[in-house]
Amino acid sequence: MVVPYKHEPFTDFTVEENRKEYQKALDYVKSQLGQEYPLIINGEKVFTEDKTVSENPANKKEIVGYVSKCSQELAEKAMQAADEAFKSWSKWDPASRADLLFRASAMIRRRKHEFSAWLTYEAGKPWKEADADTAEAIDFLEYYARQILRLKDGIEINSREGEFNRFNYIPLGVGVTISPWNFAFAIMAGTTVGPMVAGNTILLKPAKTTPVIAYKFMEVLLEAGLPKGVVNYIPGSSAEMGDYVVDHPRTRFINFTGSKAVGLHIAERAAKVQDGQKWMKRVISEMGGKDTIIVDNNADLDLAVESIVYSAFGFSGQKCSACSRAVIHEDVYDEVLEKVAARTKELTVGPTYKDNSNFMGPVNDQAAFDKILDYIEVGKKEGRLMAGGEGDSSEGYFIQPTVFADVDPEARIMQEEIFGPVVAFSKAKDFDEMIEIANNTEYGLTGAVISNNRDHLEQARQDFHVGNLYFNRGCTAAIVGYHPFGGFNMSGTDSKAGGPDYLLHFLQPKTVSETF
Ligand code: NAD
Repeated sequence: MVVPYKHEPFTDFTVEENRKEYQKALDYVKSQLGQEYPLIINGEKVFTEDKTVSENPANKKEIVGYVSKCSQELAEKAMQAADEAFKSWSKWDPASRADLLFRASAMIRRRKHEFSAWLTYEAGKPWKEADADTAEAIDFLEYYARQILRLKDGIEINSREGEFNRFNYIPLGVGVTISPWNFAFAIMAGTTVGPMVAGNTILLKPAKTTPVIAYKFMEVLLEAGLPKGVVNYIPGSSAEMGDYVVDHPRTRFINFTGSKAVGLHIAERAAKVQDGQKWMKRVISEMGGKDTIIVDNNADLDLAVESIVYSAFGFSGQKCSACSRAVIHEDVYDEVLEKVAARTKELTVGPTYKDNSNFMGPVNDQAAFDKILDYIEVGKKEGRLMAGGEGDSSEGYFIQPTVFADVDPEARIMQEEIFGPVVAFSKAKDFDEMIEIANNTEYGLTGAVISNNRDHLEQARQDFHVGNLYFNRGCTAAIVGYHPFGGFNMSGTDSKAGGPDYLLHFLQPKTVSETF
């Protein structure tokens, strides 16, 4: 029997020993910076002339790695390899596929800080956030391995006298996994191994700014015994190679996580049936958020302040679940706002690859830096600046945590995903209005209610229309197996990553009925 699932514990960085270990891992990763990385197609390393340069967002001059770029020709080879590998991989005993994940998970756990240190260098993650990203990657491996064990014998159905009916799940074929940079390890790994352990083969296209951590994960899968062609690592240009693999007639499904714009673009292209295509492609598309914390007039206000600050500014607000809207009852609005602003001014911003002293690191890259600062300028017109409001990109892409007050619920900074350390406050006269404001975006990913009124919590349970709703805590930090994750409306297809039915997206049920 496999031991029951429980999530990977987080590292306590108040313990000096743990800090030393992390520092050692950072020193090791520093010694590894600047190397060249190949594609992996059919188990072979393929180096290309054309390279993506992955930089340290906290120190633009520091190169994390030079990563080969996949062309259309090489993507075609990867597709053929995945197609071929599917023939045998899909027939593997699901329990053996699960074993591969258990082994890979054990290998990552032994080198946990090293993986987190790569995230600190390549994604600019503070230690705590990097540690959580690695823990979540481990969790996805452990959880999905157990889920396929649960599903492998199918589900019992009825049979009449003289017949025996079976209902079993079989894999789909070749899938394309397209992942974002913000959970560069966890989401990349989870959206790869979920479909893979279900018996599909994968073309993995990681995000442009975080391809090295994905390569490091590929190394683990190969060392754990992954057969050639089962996962093919093909970072490359979205316009040239991304569209090519999405359009490909042999692509059976696309497992995408990223922005609304790209998610819709992929869904539209995938809907078109290509010459020789024998199926309708499945598109699993987990997209953006515009997530709200509402604070009731009888709430624990210190809890409200901590929840807003951590949910808005953890990893510089670059989480799809980040709190970018705080909707506060008028009775407590001034107090919560003042306290959040004061607490925000105490937060430190700076590099996180040198030591653990800064709460926030950099934002992703120049494009993110420019976009967030543009929104801050919009915010200065739409609201009252209470904290932050500036950026500095002389060394890395640093932006101060920023709070705007008195923002109209219809304002742009209350409606559009900024994906940075910016939170907007709106005042509401009662709980009904708070729910109304919370629901007035096109998204529906996460939300939180801070309240001690049981009636109001029950009202929110029914009416606050988001995929992940939290009571009396922040709106980030979903845990695999505990808080299955995915959003409503323009936040995506609500696939509930880390949930008990996630693997069903990558399986098709087959009924076999025998008459005796
Ligand atoms: P993005 O949409 O810019 O890119 C996501 C991925 O899509 C990247 O790997 C990118 O290279 C690829 N891509 C872009 N164009 C493509 C194309 N034409 N064909 C194929 N692939 C293409 O998103 P991002 O900036 O990497 O990530 C941030 C976004 O992701 C935010 O909107 C955030 O809310 C969202 N996100 C959502 C979830 C969720 O679970 N709902 C989780 C994390 C991030």
